[in-house]
Parts: sequence; structure tokens; C-alpha cells
Amino acid sequence: MKPLRIDIEIPAFLHRDVEHGVFYCSEKILEGRVDRDAGSGIDLELADDADTESIESTVRGWIEQTIQRSLRYEDDVLQEWGEAAPFRSETEEILASKDLKVMGNGLVSYGPRYTRILQSLLEICEQLSASVEAEPFMTPAVATVEHLQRCDFLAQFPQAISFVTHFREDHSVIDRFAEQCRGTDGAVDCQPPAEHLKPFGMLLRPAVCYHIYPYFEGETLDRDPYLACAVGDCFRYESRNTTGIDRLFDFRLYEIVGLGSDETLQRWREGMIAEAVEIFTDLGLPGRIAGSNDPFFAAGSILKSTFQRAHALKYELEVPFPNREGRLAVASFNLHRDFFGTRFDIQTPSREVASTGCVGYGLDRILSALLVHHGLDLEQWPQRCRERLGIRA
Ligand code: ATP
Ligand code: ZN
Ligand code: MG
Repeated sequence: MKPLRIDIEIPAFLHRDVEHGVFYCSEKILEGRVDRDAGSGIDLELADDADTESIESTVRGWIEQTIQRSLRYEDDVLQEWGEAAPFRSETEEILASKDLKVMGNGLVSYGPRYTRILQSLLEICEQLSASVEAEPFMTPAVATVEHLQRCDFLAQFPQAISFVTHFREDHSVIDRFAEQCRGTDGAVDCQPPAEHLKPFGMLLRPAVCYHIYPYFEGETLDRDPYLACAVGDCFRYESRNTTGIDRLFDFRLYEIVGLGSDETLQRWREGMIAEAVEIFTDLGLPGRIAGSNDPFFAAGSILKSTFQRAHALKYELEVPFPNREGRLAVASFNLHRDFFGTRFDIQTPSREVASTGCVGYGLDRILSALLVHHGLDLEQWPQRCRERLGIRA
């Protein structure tokens, strides 16, 4: 590894986005850290064969562009609760735990102890859904490119996309690949010639809610709001940002989706935030509800993020966490106004274009927060938290 320091003024509100986005400047960037102490500059670690000069110019250009295109915003904290106590475990300890196994970059399998906690968290989410009479849905883990294009996902989050493809229906192509795999001890050519593959027709889903909107295409809702809930694995390519179990490639997301008029959805979101604060208080986790925006790697999506901030469309529930920001977003509360309602021609019972919103609970992140705050020994977790999760003595 070789270090590269780039001296450039980076406003504090962009530190997180710059740190996450810098990896997408070049595959040769292995580590990146904004120098918060000095108040400016970014320190990178590059692969030994990296072209330092060209990377410096790319990173500098990208940061300058990002700064130019973003509007400065202030912290917008709605609510804060709980006492911040010292962390009881660190990311490395969690990853080394016998209760999980890392299967690849951003891929984790959980053993029985952690799986039971995740199941209890899922149950809490299901109780929440039941209390607001949300209807259950089950949806595929992949989505067609056309579908996600209609949801505007491709242009907004290109860095996160995971395409799915297949071999063409051609025995010679398929046999050639199988032949290559036979007898090799694990070394497989993962870049077959493009002409052997079908065009990318599908993507791994990045969120659960995208399948809900087209379900109601062309329909008039029978109530306001109509609430739907669904859970499943979601996939986002996070480059070198994958860390402990808080930023994975494949993670479990529980969502409640609201469709209805703007006013009912605003009220619904307020209620969902209040319920969430109660749940996290019961779990013994301190936190805050703060305004946020989606990340903006694509130049065109900076505008959308700014719009989200200006109109308070995205709030997150953040828990203190031993990462660089000192906080982790474990749930988000989003309003999309009439975007999906217009795209998919959905109407409210009073025949107006429906607005939508979604509330997402990241189950892996909540588990991560619990382990960091309460430690790896479940016996030692606070009584109320154990009761809420149904952990037996
Ligand atoms: P971040 O800015 O931290 O990446 P996000 O804005 O991308 O979060 P949302 O799109 O609001 O997150 O997703 C809903 C929830 O899904 C988040 O609050 C979080 O709990 C969870 N989540 C998002 N990305 C990941 C990931 N890579 N690994 C684990 N959980 C995730
Ligand atoms: Zn959603
Ligand atoms: Mg993200």
C-alpha cells in the first residue's frame, strides 16, 4: 500500500458522503479517511501498482464537483433520547464472534443465537405492522431492469447496482464454461466473453418497497392510507465501505409502505417515528431522529438529495456507533410525494394521484447496534431489552 494525501477543503456536512464515495473514483483506492482533526484534506491508501498522479486528479475533481453541486444544510434533529454509555464491543469483535460466519465481502451467515435475535426483531416489526393493519406482501429478490428504471433507481444509485445475467441458450457456450470449471481448484474465469452472456435483464433488489408500487399500477386505493409490509434480503454494492454487519452487500430489510394522500402519509410517518422511538427505548438503545438524504454518487442525484433535505422527505433513526461519524442509521422514514403514484398511475379513494412513503428497518444494523451497546454476552443485556426480544434467562 502507498499513502496519498490530498489537501482540499471539505465541508463537514460532506465528510461522510466523500468518504463513502471516494472508493468509486478508482478500484486502486483501498482506504480513505477525511482528516477531520486538521479540518481539511483526505488521506488515501492506494494499491502498490496505482497511478498516484491520475488518482489524485480524479479524486480532486470528483470532490470539487461534489462540493460545487451540493447545497449546505444544517443538522435537523427532531428528537433525541437515552444516555450514551461506553460501547461494549467493537466491529472486529463482532466479526470474530462464533455466532456468525463471513462468507465473502459483505456476506454474513448468522448462527442460532444471532438468528433468534433477528427473528425477534422481525417479530417486533410484524407486531408494529399488525398494530397499524398493514397488509403483508411477499416479493421476489430480483427485479427487472425495466421495473427499476421506472422507479428511477438506475440513474439515482448506479454505484449500488448488481446486475443478474445468464449464459445464452447455446450448448457450446455452456459446455465450454463447465469444462473450464472442471478440474480447476477454485480458480474460475469469471469474465466470460460478453457474446456468451444474455443482456442484463434483471437486478438484485436494493429495497423491498420497489415491488409494492407496481403492484397497485392503474388502481384506485380502497383506503387512505393503504399500508403494506414486506421483508427480505436486499442487495447494494457498497464497494470497500462494507464493514462489520452494519454495512453489508446482502442485508435484511423490513419495510412498511404507505400509499395515500400527502396529509395522511405525513401523519402516518409521525406515528411511525413515535413507535420507533418507543421500540428503541425498550431495546435500551439511545438515539436520535435526524433529517437525512440519499447518498449522491451520480452527479444528477445531488439535486434530488438537496430536494429531500429541503422538504424533510427523509428522516433516519441514528444510534451512537463506533464508526467515523459516531452514528449508525438503523431505520429510515421516507416520503416520496407523488413520484411513484404518478409513475404507476395510483389513485387515492378521492381520485387524486397517490403519494407514497416507506419506513425501513435494517435488521442487521439493529443487531449490530445491540451488540455494540450491550456486548456479545446476551445474558448481560438489560432486562427490558431481553424481555422485548424474548431472550430466556
Ligand atoms: P446509509 O446512508 O447508511 O447507506 P441508506 O440511506 O442507504 O443508509 P436506506 O436506503 O434508507 O439507507 O435503507 C433503509 C435501511 O436499510 C437503513 O436505515 C439501514 O438500516 C439499512 N441499510 C441500508 N444499506 C445497508 C447496508 N449496506 N447494510 C446493512 N443495512 C443497510
Ligand atoms: Zn423503501
Ligand atoms: Mg446507502
